[in-house]
Amino acid sequence: MAHAKDLRTLTKSVFRDGVLAGEIVKMINDYWEQVKLKETSVVKIMNFCGTHEYASTHYGIRSVLPPGVELVAGPGCPVCITPSFYVEAAVKLAIEGVTVYTYGDSYKLPAVKAVDGCRSLSDARMMGHDVRVVYSFLDAARDAATHKKPSVFLAVGFETTCPAYASAISNNLVPPNLTLIMAGRLTPPAAKYSVERVGKVSGVIAPGHVSTITGAGVWRFLPEEYGVPAVVAGFEPLDVLIAIALILRQILEGEPRLEIEYSRTVTWEGNRKAKALLERYFEVVDAAWRGIGFIERSGLAFREEYSDLDAFRVYGIREPSREEWRHDLLPGCICGQVILGSAKPSDCKMFMKACTPGTPYGPCMVSTEGACSIWARMGGSGVVLEV
Ligand code: SF4
Repeated sequence: MAHAKDLRTLTKSVFRDGVLAGEIVKMINDYWEQVKLKETSVVKIMNFCGTHEYASTHYGIRSVLPPGVELVAGPGCPVCITPSFYVEAAVKLAIEGVTVYTYGDSYKLPAVKAVDGCRSLSDARMMGHDVRVVYSFLDAARDAATHKKPSVFLAVGFETTCPAYASAISNNLVPPNLTLIMAGRLTPPAAKYSVERVGKVSGVIAPGHVSTITGAGVWRFLPEEYGVPAVVAGFEPLDVLIAIALILRQILEGEPRLEIEYSRTVTWEGNRKAKALLERYFEVVDAAWRGIGFIERSGLAFREEYSDLDAFRVYGIREPSREEWRHDLLPGCICGQVILGSAKPSDCKMFMKACTPGTPYGPCMVSTEGACSIWARMGGSGVVLEV
């Protein structure tokens, strides 16, 4: 039997083990039997990250949890939360003859407003415009250096992806004809927003890869300011199960704190070099999240001295201010509620009807990290009836 005190180090060497998983599930059930004597309602644990939602759904983790332990999705999918305005701007530039580079999962991201009949970069490409899907920013930089035409890169991403932009700039790998639509976002402010505005969250499974860059310390506010247990976890099924057990143990002990389960990668300080690069090129600004609205100090924007890399500055595009921002989901899409854990994908009337992975109507159905896409492809709780 795995002892509770060993939980945080278990996955250093073992990632997938059925026997071990069974023991941890038993531990979760034991904790729950004791927790439910103290807690009157269900325990709602937020999978902050889309990759955690993937692991939970793909491996049917919900189906082995006690009925009172509910796992909900969080806003940790960068494609899902990229405001529609950025997609519309990228499509407009493509139509105007600019070469637009995008990651594969942003390619089909549907905008609210169609530009010349194109609602996505995929539509723009079908209309003959120069939209290129790349695996990395470096691929875009290399390609743009070859053809030398005016080019932009739709730079979505969290703390994990944005250092790659900064690193390429720092190493002089970005040709003068390539600029970025900077849509980088920071995750801790979104977690703060989620626990402040969305009912009771009993615990948060904090993102492991983001914390590899930021350090786990950025999540301290969850237990210290809000009394919410937090565990920085990896993405194997055992990682998620252990995180759930650790959160239940904290609830049981009545001592919310921050723990690192993903200790094979995450430290308290994070990656100092990556953080220094972010600090050098970007400033932290209030920024919009799709389906949610503005969140204070949650976005990255180029510092003034690097504004020649900012596509909006170069092409004279003005971003909507907080006052001008409008709800940016199509009618009927409830992605905003899904990514804040207050609704399940299957609560949406469009789910697997008007909105499918092949015909995404809303942003959460596009990326492999989007909750609706994950539920559509794998079933919400490990129980086929859910879908
Ligand atoms: S199923 Fe589609 S329309 Fe409904 S919330 Fe998800 S992405 Fe939006």
